[in-house]
Amino acid sequence: MDDNILRIDNLKKYFPLKGGLVVKAVDGVSLRLAAGETLGLVGESGSGKSTIAYVLIGMYEATDGRIIYKGEDISRGGLRRTLKQKSEMQIVFQDPGSSLNPKRTIRQSLAVPLAVHSKNTPGKDLDKKIEGLLDEVELPLDFAGKYPSALGGGERQLVSVARALAANPSLIILDEPTSALDVSIQAKVISKLIDLQHEKSLSYLFITHDLSLMRNVADRVAILYLGRLCEQAPAPEFFQNPLHPYTQMLLSSIPVVTPEEESMKPARIRSSGEIPSPVNVPPGCAFHLRCRNKMPICETERPLMKTVTEGHEVCCHLDFER
Ligand code: SF4
Repeated sequence: MDDNILRIDNLKKYFPLKGGLVVKAVDGVSLRLAAGETLGLVGESGSGKSTIAYVLIGMYEATDGRIIYKGEDISRGGLRRTLKQKSEMQIVFQDPGSSLNPKRTIRQSLAVPLAVHSKNTPGKDLDKKIEGLLDEVELPLDFAGKYPSALGGGERQLVSVARALAANPSLIILDEPTSALDVSIQAKVISKLIDLQHEKSLSYLFITHDLSLMRNVADRVAILYLGRLCEQAPAPEFFQNPLHPYTQMLLSSIPVVTPEEESMKPARIRSSGEIPSPVNVPPGCAFHLRCRNKMPICETERPLMKTVTEGHEVCCHLDFER
């Protein structure tokens, strides 16, 4: 087994539609995630980032490609995965309001995964374990008796994190975990997630549309566009030396805080053109209709991912020789 806890090789997830049309939601994505690492998977709406999450947790069956988790091929079988495999990989969804059952108290919501994933029935230890989970996410113990509606958005999201921890996972997929929250609450939830990662050596696949958030959270960043990867690199290299024209366009429009960040930011590049429909992805490079660097080859030939420096990969016909 290599150092990677997760490897995704050439993953595809297609959704057939009536009339022979096909949505290629994920179209040949390869990623890796090392133990204890945070990979920021960034893309606009419709880029396929959440579809990747649902394939990983087995909600969708992959159309093609391989998913290797801790050296084991879990590409097929979806929901028929073993309990251990399901425990290992947990997900926190964007909206805790809909992912927590409004008719269950927090205690009941936490008791379910504890019962399912515990080798021994929690029995009389249950209350202690629930208190332990609330304590881990720094929520008051009396929250156990409350319903989700009595909690604020950030508190509900921390309950979702506690619920994921109940399964004792190694990897947590964070699917836009803070985008439904106020900015001040976002910071608190992110800070707690980072603390928990260090305490428990967790790996995070952090899915987001908010590239600026990744500056302080991700170890590596990968950019997705219409189901295909454009670029991936270690975070410092990514923010200092973005190479793909789409990445440069995204980075040129994100807010920055420090003069150092401002100096690294590409000059403002106006977004041109609409994002094409995933049902009708353009031939060649999927970004060519919006790309200011477009060349004739870009309209006909799909670019391959190439390594520019160690760990920095770009999928583009431009020449990035250094
Ligand atoms: Fe632009 Fe061509 Fe690179 Fe696509 S392959 S990003 S169209 S330069």
